[in-house]
Amino acid sequence: MSQENEHVKCLIIGSGPAGYTAAIYAARADLKPVLYTGLLVGGQLTQTTEVENYPGYPDGIQGPEMMLNFEKQASRLGTDIRFGYVSSVDFSSQPHKVVIDESKTVLADTVIISTGASAKWLGLESEQKYNGFGVSACAVCDGFFFRGQDVAIVGAGDTAAEEATYLAKLCRKVYMLVRRDEFRASKAMVHRVLNTHNIEILYNSETKEILGDGQVVTGLRVFNNKTGAEKDLDITGFFVAIGHHPNTEIFKGWIDMDENGYIITQSGSSKTNIEGVFACGDAQDHVYRQAITAAGTGCMAAIDAERYLAAREHAIPA
Ligand code: NDP
Repeated sequence: MSQENEHVKCLIIGSGPAGYTAAIYAARADLKPVLYTGLLVGGQLTQTTEVENYPGYPDGIQGPEMMLNFEKQASRLGTDIRFGYVSSVDFSSQPHKVVIDESKTVLADTVIISTGASAKWLGLESEQKYNGFGVSACAVCDGFFFRGQDVAIVGAGDTAAEEATYLAKLCRKVYMLVRRDEFRASKAMVHRVLNTHNIEILYNSETKEILGDGQVVTGLRVFNNKTGAEKDLDITGFFVAIGHHPNTEIFKGWIDMDENGYIITQSGSSKTNIEGVFACGDAQDHVYRQAITAAGTGCMAAIDAERYLAAREHAIPA
């Protein structure tokens, strides 16, 4: 017996601030959105502790709690929220085909991609253990908690350079671990780092272990990959800035992306190269990467989807 495919007006992929905001707007526009959460329900913010820079929470809020609030709001307004991941897509014709959990196919008039990005980690056990307790992959999110303290940052690209100078404004001292004897970052960014008095650059240096007291970070063991010499640094915050990868692999071949896999959207909109497919949040943004900007672009995607459907409905047949 053949199983009939489900047909929806608006399918949202991903459950971070972008996806849930798109859902809130799409639900209120009566698009009856269906949202698939992906495997990390709530997205990257569920892996952080306190969020102090999202407007509307004067006393701050824990990341996981904030994402539960997003979910509740999207659900209350009528979003059909389902646990599941998108395993493949076929955007060759309308309606678009989206395969869930390698088994079920959903046909969608509009698709909103909000699959986010994931920070790259060093892969140390101690890094995982102290994640959220001194270890962070976002200086803008967490630097404030280390003001007046000594911290370290690993990475030598533009992100690391930018975050090191950001941290230097808040912290007493910033150690910067560069694994080669040169930066990858642009000349202008390197110039800024070199001219910041409280950043100490440790070239040819890598992380051996993040040290802690079982609760929080208390230090860092680094080694010089040329000499093998090890030393311990007294720090309370450890920032990893070795890049992000957008979660866009399943869209390769369909959606235009830049060389790093970030989805290319038309300037000032969430439109992709495929009609009826929109992208928002970190999957298409390697510059700002904040919850508030992700939410903003989620709103844009839902409005773009609504207008696309309205225009299609009112189109005069040829
Ligand atoms: P990049 O991939 O450019 O840099 C990653 C850095 O991390 C490299 O220096 C790399 O070292 C280092 N690294 C990688 N793995 C390890 C590891 N295991 N241990 C130690 N170090 C490691 O990522 P970014 O996030 O910095 O930048 C991504 C893109 O976004 C770039 O195109 C960048 O220019 C852009 N960007 C632009 C900004 C701006 O214009 N304001 C701001 C931020 C980003 P190595 O050099 O040895 O490979």
